[in-house]
Amino acid sequence: MTVETEVLVLGAGPGGYSAAFRAADLGKQVTLVERYPVLGGVCLNVGCIPSKALLHLAGLIYEAREAAGKGIDFGAPEIDLAKLRQWKSRVVKTLNTGLAGLAKQRRVRVIQGEGRFVSAHELEVEGPDGRQVVHFQNAIIAAGSRPVRLPGWPDDPRIMDSTDALELPEIPGHLLVVGAGVIGLEMACVYHALGAKISVVELADQILPGTDPELIRPLMQAIGKRYENIWLNSKVTGVECQEQGLEVRLEGEGVPETAVFDRILVAVGRRPNSDRLNLEAAGLTTDERGFIPVDEHMRTQVPHIYAIGDIVPGPMLAHKASYEGKVAAEVICGEPAAFQALTIPSVAYTDPEVAWMGKSEAELQAAGVEYRKGVFPWAASGRAISIGRREGLTKLLCDKKTGRVLGAGIVGPHAGELISEAVLALEMGADAEDLALTIHPHPTLSETLMFAAEIVEGTITDLYLGGKRK
Ligand code: FAD
Ligand code: NAD
Repeated sequence: MTVETEVLVLGAGPGGYSAAFRAADLGKQVTLVERYPVLGGVCLNVGCIPSKALLHLAGLIYEAREAAGKGIDFGAPEIDLAKLRQWKSRVVKTLNTGLAGLAKQRRVRVIQGEGRFVSAHELEVEGPDGRQVVHFQNAIIAAGSRPVRLPGWPDDPRIMDSTDALELPEIPGHLLVVGAGVIGLEMACVYHALGAKISVVELADQILPGTDPELIRPLMQAIGKRYENIWLNSKVTGVECQEQGLEVRLEGEGVPETAVFDRILVAVGRRPNSDRLNLEAAGLTTDERGFIPVDEHMRTQVPHIYAIGDIVPGPMLAHKASYEGKVAAEVICGEPAAFQALTIPSVAYTDPEVAWMGKSEAELQAAGVEYRKGVFPWAASGRAISIGRREGLTKLLCDKKTGRVLGAGIVGPHAGELISEAVLALEMGADAEDLALTIHPHPTLSETLMFAAEIVEGTITDLYLGGKRK
């Protein structure tokens, strides 16, 4: 069977469904091809949403534990893994159902099946309803990414990727997390809260490599106390699967030669799914890492084919994918759209959370930009002290001459929510004075951004900076 469509969207993750819905809203006839029976992609089904549902429960466990020291003792938590899994699945299912409804309301045709290009205007789809060919005028490739596998590692169900770990097969006695990126650290937080001992092994010299070390410090202090080991500059050189455990050989700074774990989570990055789409038939090539190059209109080297999300260069984040999806859809519909966002914020939903946006100090220094810096310690925030979280900090970087906001970082609970104010400030061209003179409600954690701006301005009264100020 052949299906004719104006816009084909391949992949129904946050990039693909946003693109499909926007194109449909702008009047196009849209076909969305997805290999799985549910929409939402990695983010909704095996990524952002289930991980945050579990992190929410981890947060409850930590909070209840801390309350004991403040006069309310809930006792040790009783974990019912089956119920926990059910709750996580209900969260995902609610959103799956919502997305299916949104597609239906917009009359987006959804075809289930694995798609591969057969020409620059045709996609072959193999699915439960047999083989179909979609003939398209424009296409948006949104086929996402998958976990990187370490070469030579044995196949054993106790060696998990993020999808396996989100299934919560059991709470292992001792879990080894390979890779201290966002996935590794978020899942370590979940499993630790549920009772597992955690060891982390990371190739680089810090956790969340590339992130401002000042933002990493409070997180490192917290997990340094909770986890058995955080081995930096280290790697696993071999794994032997024995009945009583997984024996790993380690190499690096201060690591034992061997250690035994009940399970291992491998979280060493993700790679784009571009190798499974027969892109050559459409006249497309990828860069050496498998990403499809695009311009600021999300257009590939074949002008009527666009690509978005994890399959194109840039950070692998859901909010980037959906933003790019809307750009591609609007460009196809003749709107003057382009990807011109000044920053894509990042959040590690660890405990404490770490969020950052704009330029880091290292980037500003490398570019020779002169800047002023305000770092407000949450130990001086009434709200942070009231909730027992004085380890946080809020950092603001502004242009030395103009005061314009250039970058920000926040560590502490809700950092991921708080960072949006800094993103808006950057996008609006606000300066430190704008933030300092914006009345923030007291006592809130949001005030800390105002305080950081007051430090930049020299007007802060909640700290003593010394000397006479303007
Ligand atoms: P995807 O979500 O990967 O969707 C691609 C879709 O294409 C999939 O549904 C796939 O089945 C389909 N597909 C692929 N090939 C074909 C084919 N040949 N035919 C048909 N269909 C196909 N990001 C955040 O911003 N915040 C977070 O908190 C966050 N947490 C995460 C937690 C985990 C554990 C993981 C793994 C990722 C997380 N991410 C997070 C990253 C986020 O999930 C991705 O950046 C996002 O899903 C990318 O969206 P996408 O639309 O490009 O691709
Ligand atoms: P990542 O690239 O963020 O981190 C992988 C880590 O593994 C790095 O620190 C790397 O140095 C380390 N590493 C690589 N090879 C190693 C080895 N052999 N031994 C030890 N360490 C090794 O990748 P990830 O954590 O797998 O996440 C994948 C993507 O998913 C990320 O790009 C991220 O943007 C996205 N994600 C985002 C969120 C969020 O926004 N909160 C959450 C989860 C995932």
